[in-house]
Amino acid sequence: MRILVTGGAGFLGSHLCDRLLADGHDVIAMDNLITGSADNIAHLAGKRRFHFIHHNVTNYIYLKGPLDAILHFASPASPVDYLELPIQTLKVGSLGTHNALGLALNKGARFLLASTSEVYGDPMVHPQTESYWGNVNPIGPRGVYDEAKRFAEAMTMAYHRSHSVDTRIVRIFNTYGPRMRLNDGRVVPNFISQALAGRPLTVYGDGSQTRSFCFVLDLIEGIYRLLMSDEVEPVNIGNPTELTIREFAERINAITGNAGGIRFEPLPVDDPKQRRPDITKARRILNWEPVIPLQAGLEQTIAYFRERVTAED
Ligand code: UDP
Repeated sequence: MRILVTGGAGFLGSHLCDRLLADGHDVIAMDNLITGSADNIAHLAGKRRFHFIHHNVTNYIYLKGPLDAILHFASPASPVDYLELPIQTLKVGSLGTHNALGLALNKGARFLLASTSEVYGDPMVHPQTESYWGNVNPIGPRGVYDEAKRFAEAMTMAYHRSHSVDTRIVRIFNTYGPRMRLNDGRVVPNFISQALAGRPLTVYGDGSQTRSFCFVLDLIEGIYRLLMSDEVEPVNIGNPTELTIREFAERINAITGNAGGIRFEPLPVDDPKQRRPDITKARRILNWEPVIPLQAGLEQTIAYFRERVTAED
């Protein structure tokens, strides 16, 4: 297949490119490098089956030749990033998704949308099943991401229903692993960078809020299976092992041997109190579940961060 990955130089996009190339596909990565990084795809430069196009998908996407699939992953994804880039975030989720769907229609390509657990907002249903409609504050600071992704899902279903585009929607829960940006502001890069510097980990609020962390290669496997399936309705992909943020901080301090402890800081506005995917559907229709334990995934991630910190010194 010839496949376009928007956001192809990002954390998830670049791992997807690797996976698709390994499976023998031709891959075009498209990115405007605002939150993505050329470093993430540097190892692919010069490969015959790989091409990179520097482009902002908020603008019309022109691509020569046939295309079999589009994986639409372009968007800031860290709360810190999308709070700094609120309008770009809304535009890439809305205009960018419209452009990518238009391209899919034009080329007769399958379209997979990277959606998010943020469509569930601060959830009143726990764990979150795909049938839950969510609890999102449309005018809060996180609304720029949540509503853009909700609009993107609606647009994807509209293209499916009105134009018969062959679509997929993955709802991605918290994911971690190599190639996360050191300074992206999310909890994993923050905690690991702080731990490696021997500083206290900044726990927001009292740390009783929960998240469930999936290692990136598990997630990529789930997305690949969804792409190859015929499921049109949204599917949660994530790891159901749930931890409080305080427990998570203690875990990182233990693995890294950081004696810096924990420092409590104010909780950001609308920070979801709990999050855990119900992956019954993914298990049933994709025969998928995560296999990489948190300990092993964190060790790989910490090793990656250690290398980057040393390189930047
Ligand atoms: N968080 C934290 N300290 C940090 C960064 C994040 O305690 O330095 C918390 C944040 O308030 C949230 C959780 O960790 O409850 C996950 O935050 P992240 O930004 O990674 O993503 P989210 O799941 O909120 O989209």
